[in-house]
Order: sequence, then structure tokens, then C-alpha cells
Amino acid sequence: MSRYAEFYRRSIEAPESFWAEQAELIEWKTPPGQILDTSRAPFVRWFAGGTTNLCHNAVDRHLAARGDQAALIAVSTETGTEKTYSFRELHAEVQRVAATLMALGVGKGDRVLIYMPMIPEAAFTMLACVRLGAIHCVVFGGFASASLASRIEDATPKVIVSADAGSRGGKVIAYKPLLDEAMRLSTHQPEAVLLFDRGLAPMDLKEGRDHLAAPLIEQHRDAQVPCTWLDATDISYTIYTSGTTGRPKGVQRDTGGYAVALAASMKHIFDGRPGETYFSTSDIGWVVGHSYIVYGPLIAGMATIMYEGLPTQGLDRQPDGGIWWRLVEKYKVTAMFSAPTAVRVLKKQDPALLGKYDLSSLRALFLAGEPLDEPTARWISEGLGVPIIDNYWQTESGWPILTVANGVERTDSRFGSPGIPMYGYKVKILNESTGEELTGANEKGVVVIESPTPPGFMQTVWRDDERFINTYWKSVPGKLVYSTFDWGIRDKDGYYYILGRTDDVINVAGHRLGTREIEESISGHAQVAEVAVVGVADALKGQVATAFVVPKDGAVLGDAQAALTLEGEVMKQVADQLGALARPARVHFVSALPKTRSGKLLRRAIQAVCEGRDPGDLTTIEDPGALQQVRKAVVPH
Ligand code: AMP
Repeated sequence: MSRYAEFYRRSIEAPESFWAEQAELIEWKTPPGQILDTSRAPFVRWFAGGTTNLCHNAVDRHLAARGDQAALIAVSTETGTEKTYSFRELHAEVQRVAATLMALGVGKGDRVLIYMPMIPEAAFTMLACVRLGAIHCVVFGGFASASLASRIEDATPKVIVSADAGSRGGKVIAYKPLLDEAMRLSTHQPEAVLLFDRGLAPMDLKEGRDHLAAPLIEQHRDAQVPCTWLDATDISYTIYTSGTTGRPKGVQRDTGGYAVALAASMKHIFDGRPGETYFSTSDIGWVVGHSYIVYGPLIAGMATIMYEGLPTQGLDRQPDGGIWWRLVEKYKVTAMFSAPTAVRVLKKQDPALLGKYDLSSLRALFLAGEPLDEPTARWISEGLGVPIIDNYWQTESGWPILTVANGVERTDSRFGSPGIPMYGYKVKILNESTGEELTGANEKGVVVIESPTPPGFMQTVWRDDERFINTYWKSVPGKLVYSTFDWGIRDKDGYYYILGRTDDVINVAGHRLGTREIEESISGHAQVAEVAVVGVADALKGQVATAFVVPKDGAVLGDAQAALTLEGEVMKQVADQLGALARPARVHFVSALPKTRSGKLLRRAIQAVCEGRDPGDLTTIEDPGALQQVRKAVVPH
């Protein structure tokens, strides 16, 4: 048996001793009592009775051995700034923010919603929250008011932390008006709003509620705020993700299990060593940003690069397709994490760019978030000359489900496959309608995970245990298994291949969006009678949202100018309410949408037609003419 196979076998057959060993990778105030509690499965509790703190493990723990080494390297090609914080400086910054939050009334269990651009203060705030035992809820800065409002309502934060603005490609995006509108839409109101002013956009402050951060932080310049020791099962954070309904789900994570899972993954999967530099190009608004910009690298004693800006612009704000490689060279990055879309963007640049930099420090490039196509993988692999490691996971899992664990044993990757199941994950492929396990090579089914889920995996849906069970654990008939909602196959050697979602979730540039949310936003337009949104394959972004709208005024159908105007309005409405990422690439107008006789939208048939594929079984369609209209709309002649 190979070394990894044995490692994996132990994690599945003897999870308690396996994870008790991994738990030694972090520092505990009180060592864990019970390693695994499955008495309420599929709810699992890891390391109950043990007390620890994420911030202690990410920051304080390293002060003695590497206090003056780099911890956080903040680079913004939007503002042309670059600053390194040592572990000691990070420790001071985090305590200042923690003291400020305490002064605003934040304590253990309180929610703090963070709506911020990629500035170091965002990481300070996250670390300050977990230091106090407050639950942070980071909302991606690219989301607009309606998305933000639904998250404020659900998280009911005591305090919201934000900034005057973000910036993308030199364009300033003022956050405060979006936040004000979100608070206006929400029934829940925070007690206080803390605002970091970058001097990019003016802010209207509401007396008594809104506070500028700088003077408050100055008051707490020398603050010493000890870590609050939390039970391993106490909540560290929630992060919202899209599903089949318009209402986003708050993925809830624990403290001890998450810390152990990240520490273990840094060792076994990312092979990151203390004193080295890790560079993840994601955003703190996504799970990758939580796990592998902030917590994972810091827990491992590594410096982490936090990057604000496009991959194609330099610090002098001039076009520079080599900026990331420049950073790899300068900071001697050993592990880099990005998404296939970003690599596809870079591929369009001068292919010789990669050769200009000394990239010899780099040991591997990790890519995740969406399927990695072979041409992209080959291009970057040849250019970098290091292993390209695809890894498949979800917001819900917090760390990779499928990949290769080169830290345990060098394992070959296969193009098109993210890899094999990671230790702790009992991955199976099931027939979606019978629940029967598919054990043969290349049989297509739903990818599921059996209980107990490993440390770091979501505990539940925030304040909604029932939704957790009904959504994730009861979707395959007759089996209580966690559904990933992804189709997959496994080859004869055990490598998995992910073939797309089984639900109405689409993946735009590695970001997950629910088509229902976009449909709800479009339905709000006064001239829209009905709408269907599907994800359509796109060479650069993986998928883009495409909308089919039945206008209230049928005249739009025969009037190209009116259709163009309405298309522009619909696109703007989505961008204003949900954010630019969700804006449909096209809006087509039709007089009817393809539905079943029971009135269910045939989204998969619409999607197939858009991608020039066979729409499949149409025996239940109410009006075949409606699908014909979709076909005509996407292929006009
Ligand atoms: P998110 O929760 O936003 O990380 O999205 C998770 C979804 O992204 C998964 O359920 C997959 O559909 C997709 N995904 C993530 N990583 C990969 C990968 N390496 N290959 C294929 N699909 C992926």
C-alpha cells in the first residue's frame, strides 16, 4: 500500500486517533477531551472540551520564534501601495481593532459583519473578531445592496465594519452608499458601523451609529487584549453561499476543528513551511480567502500576501501582465493559489512574461474553484515548470475534498481530474434517483460524502439545522449522505472528474452564484413578466449568466431598439442589486419560457440549447414552441 493510501485508510478507519495526532499541529489552552462526537450525526462535534483560539494560533503563537518575520504582506496595485507587517506588528494591529470592537460592545458570540475591500484592515478585523470569540461574517465587497441586505438580515450583526471604497481596474467603487442602501432594505439594524477611510470616496456618517475607525483605533494604540479561550466547537464564523433558493445559506464553522483542518492541510496538501511566503490571489469574501489568505498560512507560520487589484496591472498602475510573478520573485513565494479563470486571463498576455522572472522559489501552483481545462493547465504547467495542483472543494468543506497530498507522498496529477479523496473524506458516487452506489469505472452520478464529515467541515446552516439536513443530507433518496450537488465520475485508478452542478448553481470566474437570486432581481423590474436564468459555457469565465425574459409589453419582441434598451436596464438592475459578477452576459426576450406541464422551468433544456447540445428528454414539456424561441434567440439565423 502506498504511503498516502495508508494515511487515508487510517483517517477513515480510525478517525479518532488520526485526528488526535493532527490536533497536535495547533496549540490548545486545554487539550481536547472527546476527539469525535457523532451522537447527533450527521451533526458532528470535533475536539469538544478542548479550548483554543484561531487568532492565538495564527498570530500570538508565532511571536516567540518569528515575531520579526513577515506575517502579512499587503499589496495594492489599485492604490500603488505595498506594506509588510511582521507577526509582532500584526499582533499590535489586531489588538487595536479588537479593543475598538470591544468599546463598541462586541463580545463572545456577537456577530460582526465585514464588508471590505482587500486591505490589511480587513484581515486585522477578522483576526480581532476571532480573538474576542465574536463571529465574523465577511460579505464579498463586489456584492451590492440587495445581496448585502439579505446577509445583514440573516446574520443580525451587532457591528458592521466597512470602508469608504474598493477599487477595481482604477475604478473606485464607493461602499458606504451600498451599505446605507442595504441597511435601509434590512429590518435588522446594527448598533454601530465602523468605517475605515482610505480617502477614495466621501462618506455620509450617521450620528451615533457610524464611527470613523482611525481616531478610535488611535485611542487603543497600546491596547492589550488577551485571546478569549473558546471551546473547540464554538462558532468562529459564518460565510454565505448560494444554493437553489434565492435565500443564501450561512455556512457555519467551528473553531478547533477548523484550526486543526487548516494546519493539517498546510502540511499535507500545500506543503507550506514556517518562514516561507504563501500567495493566494482570492478575496477575503470567499472561503479560499478565509482558509488560505488569512488563517491557513498564518497558522503555519508563513507570510501571506494579500493582493488588491487585477492580475494585469502593476504597482505604478500601468498595464503589467507579470505583476503576480514579480511578487513571487520578490517575496520568494513557495506556494501559490489561484483560479483557472485568472490563469486564462494571464494566458492572453505575452506568453514570454513568465520567463522574465526568477520563479525558482515556487514549488507548486494550486488552482481551484471551477473545472481546470487541459489547455490552461498545460500552458501554465509548461511556463512555470512546477506541479499544477487542481483541488476541488466547496464553501461548505472549508478545505480540499479532492486533490493530491504531496506533503504526505508525491502523487501524480491527471489532467482534467482534481485528484483523489483527501484524508477524512469518505467520498462516494451515487445514482441520483435510486441512491445506489456506483462503484464501476467512469459511471456518472452525484458526488457525496458520508458522515462523519472531517474537522473544518461546516457545522450546520447558521440558525437553521433543519435546512442543513433537508438541503444537504436528504437529497439522495434513501440515504443520509452529504450531497456536493456536483456530478462526477471516478476512473479505474480512483481519480475523480467533476462534471458540473446538479442544481441551479452556476460558476462565474470561479465564483458561485444561484440563478434564483439573479432571477429574483430581474423579476423586480417593472417591465418583466417572467424570467429564467441559466449558466452558459464561456471560454474565459467558465460560465456566464444568460437571461431569458418574457416582457410585460409584447411590443418589445418585435422592436430591436426597445429590446436593447430593456436589456441594458435589466443588466444594470442586477449589477446594482447583486453586484457586477451576477450581471447577465445577455438578456434575450421571448414570449414564453419552456416549462413542464406542472409549471417547472426547464432550465437544463434551456442551457443545453444555449450551448448547442441536445436538450434531452422533452416528454414533459408544455409548449415545444417556447424552446424553439430560445433556440432562435441564441442562434438568430
Ligand atoms: P464554492 O462553494 O464557491 O467554492 O463553489 C464550489 C463549487 O465550485 C463546487 O461544488 C464545484 O461545482 C465547483 N468547483 C470547485 N472547485 C472545483 C474544481 N477543482 N474542479 C471543478 N469544479 C470545482
